[in-house]
Amino acid sequence: MKLQTKFLVILFPLVVVPLLLNSYITRQHFAEMMGESVAQQNNILKQQMLWNLDIARQDSIGLVAEILSYPDLKNAFDQLQEQPELLQSRLEQFQQHHPKLQYVEVLSERGTSLARVQAAAAIGLPATLPPSDILRLFHADHHLYMLESHRQPADADVAPGLSIRTLVRLQQMETFIQTTRRSSNILLLLLDHGNVLSEESALKKLLPIQGDTGGNQLQWNSNHYLVNRTNITPNLQMVTLTPTVDMEASNEALNKVLSYVAIASGLISLLILHRSIATLVTNPLQRFQALTLNIINGNFKPVKVMQRQDELGLLSQSMETMRQHLQDTSEHIEELAYFDPLTGLPNKVSFIDTIQHLIEKSQVSGHQLAILFFDLDNFKHINDGLGHEFGDEMLMQVSNRLKECIRSHDVIAPGNHLALQDAEEVIARLGGDEFTLVLSKINSPDEAAKVATRILHKLSKPFLLQDNDVFISASIGISMYPKDGRTPEDLLKNADTAMYAAKSSGKNHSRFYDSKMNKPVLERIELEASMRSALANNEFILYYQPKVPLFGETRFEFETLMRWNHSEKGMISPGLFIPLAEDSGYIQTLGDWAIEQTCRQIEYWNRKGYKNVTVSTNLSPVQLNYGNPLDTIKQALASFDIRPEQLEIEITESGLMQNEKHAVELLNDIKSLGVRIALDDFGTGYSSLAYLLKFPIDTLKIDRAFIRDIDSHPESLKVLESIIGLAKSLDLHVVAEGVETREQLDLLQARECNYIQGFYFARPTEPDEAMAFFEGHYTADTEIKDNNPVRKAVS
Ligand code: C2E
Ligand code: CA
Ligand code: CA
Repeated sequence: MKLQTKFLVILFPLVVVPLLLNSYITRQHFAEMMGESVAQQNNILKQQMLWNLDIARQDSIGLVAEILSYPDLKNAFDQLQEQPELLQSRLEQFQQHHPKLQYVEVLSERGTSLARVQAAAAIGLPATLPPSDILRLFHADHHLYMLESHRQPADADVAPGLSIRTLVRLQQMETFIQTTRRSSNILLLLLDHGNVLSEESALKKLLPIQGDTGGNQLQWNSNHYLVNRTNITPNLQMVTLTPTVDMEASNEALNKVLSYVAIASGLISLLILHRSIATLVTNPLQRFQALTLNIINGNFKPVKVMQRQDELGLLSQSMETMRQHLQDTSEHIEELAYFDPLTGLPNKVSFIDTIQHLIEKSQVSGHQLAILFFDLDNFKHINDGLGHEFGDEMLMQVSNRLKECIRSHDVIAPGNHLALQDAEEVIARLGGDEFTLVLSKINSPDEAAKVATRILHKLSKPFLLQDNDVFISASIGISMYPKDGRTPEDLLKNADTAMYAAKSSGKNHSRFYDSKMNKPVLERIELEASMRSALANNEFILYYQPKVPLFGETRFEFETLMRWNHSEKGMISPGLFIPLAEDSGYIQTLGDWAIEQTCRQIEYWNRKGYKNVTVSTNLSPVQLNYGNPLDTIKQALASFDIRPEQLEIEITESGLMQNEKHAVELLNDIKSLGVRIALDDFGTGYSSLAYLLKFPIDTLKIDRAFIRDIDSHPESLKVLESIIGLAKSLDLHVVAEGVETREQLDLLQARECNYIQGFYFARPTEPDEAMAFFEGHYTADTEIKDNNPVRKAVS
C-alpha cells in the first residue's frame, strides 16, 4: 500500500466519524425541538379548548339566569306545588323562544324530574341523559353538546333547592376543531369519562385501546400520528393527533442537508488531506527517491534544495550535502584512478593509455617514441632515514624539475585524464621514486639522450629540504618504439631494464635498452635476494690491508675491505655487492656488522699484545647520510673495551655532499667519542678545501687514480705535492692508496707521505696474514728507511 493511501486510510475515519457524530447530535437536537414545539402547540390548543368550553358555560349560565327571570316561568316555579304541569308548558314555551337551549330539565331536591324539554334539532341525543350534577359532554349527530346541572340555593327567591340541567351545543368548539383539522391537519378529539366524542368509529376503538400508556404513535387511515393527551377538566381529556408526515418531511430534509454537508466536508477534507500529504510528505519523498536513484546510477546532478524549515527541509539540505560529498569523493576516486595523489602527475594506468595513443599516432606519422624510465639513486635511504615527509617533499620537488625539462610545459591537470590523449609528451609517476616520460615525434634516439642529459643536469643541483641542501642523482633507462617493443607494457619493461643497467654501472647516467641487458639484470636481482641470508651463513668476511708507516709512526694500521664468499659464485668483490646493499638498504645492517667485526678484531689483537693497532673501516654514504652508525660505534667500543682512537672511519667526499647538515653532526658526534675520521678517495671529487675545514678529519687518503700516474705525469706530481703540503699544514695524516711500484713509493717517501697502502706491500687478506706482514717486515731487512718502527710498537 502506498504511503499516501496509508495516510488516507488512517485519517479517513478521523474526518468522517466526527462528521457523522455531529449530524447525529443535530438530529437528536432537532427531534427534541420538534417534541417541544408539539408540546407548545398542545398547550395552545388546550387553552383554546378551555376558552371554548368557558364560552359555552357562559351561555349555559346565561340561559339559566333567563329561565329564572322569565316571568311565566317564575310564576310556574312559584305555583309548582299547586300546578305542577304548568312548569312543563312554560318551559316548552321558553325553549321555543330560545333555540340555543337544546335541552332543559328541572329536577326536584331529591332528583326527580319535574319537567323536561328537548329541542327538535337536538336529534341523536340519548333518550335519557345521565343523572349528573357535573359537567358532561356528548357527541351526537356530528355535534358536540354540553350538559350542565345548576342547583338553586335553598334560600333562593325563585325555585329554591331545585336543579336546572341545561344542554347547549358546543358550536364554537366544533368550528375550532374543524378549523384546526383543516388548517394544520391536527385531529382534535375529546374524551369525556373515557368516551371518545367522535363519530369516527375506528378512532373510537383505537384510542381507548391505546390508553394512556400505549405509546405516542398511532396509525389511522394509513397515516401516522403523534398522540398527545391533555386533561382539560378532571373528566375531560383532549387528545391531539398530529400527523407525523410533516415532521418526517422536515426531518428528512434535515437529514438530507446534514448528509450533504457531511459528504461535502468529508470530501473537501480528504481532498485537502490528499494535497497536503502530497506536498508535505510524498512529493519530497519522491524527490529524495529520484535523487538517490541518480546517485546509485552515478549521476551527481544537483537537485534544488527544499527551502523549508521542517524536518524534510533539513533532510533535503543534508541530502544535498551528502550528494556534494559523494560527488567530491567520486571525482577524487576518479582522480586517484588516473593521477598520482602526491605529485598530481598521471599514474601508470593513464601513462600506459597515453603510450597506446601515441603508438597509434606514430603508426600514421612514422615517427619514433622514446620511453624514459627514471629511478632516483639512493632515494630509499632518504625515505627510510629522514622520514616519509622528507621523501614526499623530495618527490614533489623532483616532479617539478622534471616538468621543467619537457617541451610542452602544460602538464596535464589532475581530473582531466581525457586531455592525456592529445598530449605529445607526458611525465608520469609509477610509484615510489620511479618516474617515466614519453616523448613522441622523435626522429632519432639522440633526441631522447639529450632530454635524459638535460634531466640529469637539472637533478644534479641541490634540493632544499627542511633547511638541508640534499643532493640526489638518478639513473635513466630508455627504450625506443618501435625498435624495443610494440606494446606499452614491453616498452616500459625494457626501459626499466635499461634503468637497472644504468644503476648497476655506477648510477647517475642514462642507458639505452639493449637485448643483452636482461642477463646481468636478472643476476643482480638474484644476488640481491641471496644477500639477506648471506650474513647469517657467515658468507661475509673482512679482509685487512696494511697501511705501512714510512716515518717512525708507532701504530700498525689496516683498512678493512669486505668480501662476500658466495656459496655458489665464489668470492664476490665489494664493487659489485656494496651498491646492491646500498640500493636495498641492507647496507645499514652490513655496515653495523663491519664496525662490530672490526672492533672485535682490534680487541683480539690487543689481547695478543699488539696494543698500538688502528683499523679503519669504510662507511657507506648511505650510512653517513641516512643512517645512525653512532649508536653502533658506541656500543662496539663499549662491548669490546678498545680505545676509541684504535678505530677509524673512512668516508668519501661525495658521501659528505649528499646531506651535509646531517653528515657534519654525525661526524662531530663520532669524533667526540675519540674515533678517528679519514677522508677517502681524496682528489677524485671536488677536493674541496672547504670540506677539510668543515669536517673533523684526521686523515687524508689520496685516491689510487692519482697515484697511478705520478711517475709519468709531472702535473700529477705537482698536485700530489700540494695536497700533501695542504694536509701537513692542517696537521692531517696522509695515506697514499694503490701504491703498486717502487717508483711510486720513492716519490711518496720523498714527499714525506705518512702511510703507504698498496699491492706493493700487501694485498687485502685475512687478519692473521695481514698482521704477519708487519712481523715479517720487522724480521726481514726491508728497504724502508727507518729503524724498525714496527718492532718498537710491539711491546
Ligand atoms: P676503497 O675504500 O677505496 O678501497 C680500496 C680499494 O683499492 C680496495 O678495493 C683495495 O683492494 C684496492 N687496492 C688497494 N691497493 C691497491 C693497489 O695497489 N692497486 C689496486 N689496483 N687496487 C688496490 P676493494 O677491496 O675491491 O674495495 C673496493 C671498494 O669497495 C672500496 O674502495 C670501498 O669503497 C668499498 N668497500 C670495501 N669494503 C667495504 C666495506 O666494508 N664497507 C663499505 N661501505 N665499502 C666497502
Ligand atoms: Ca677505503
Ligand atoms: Ca679509497
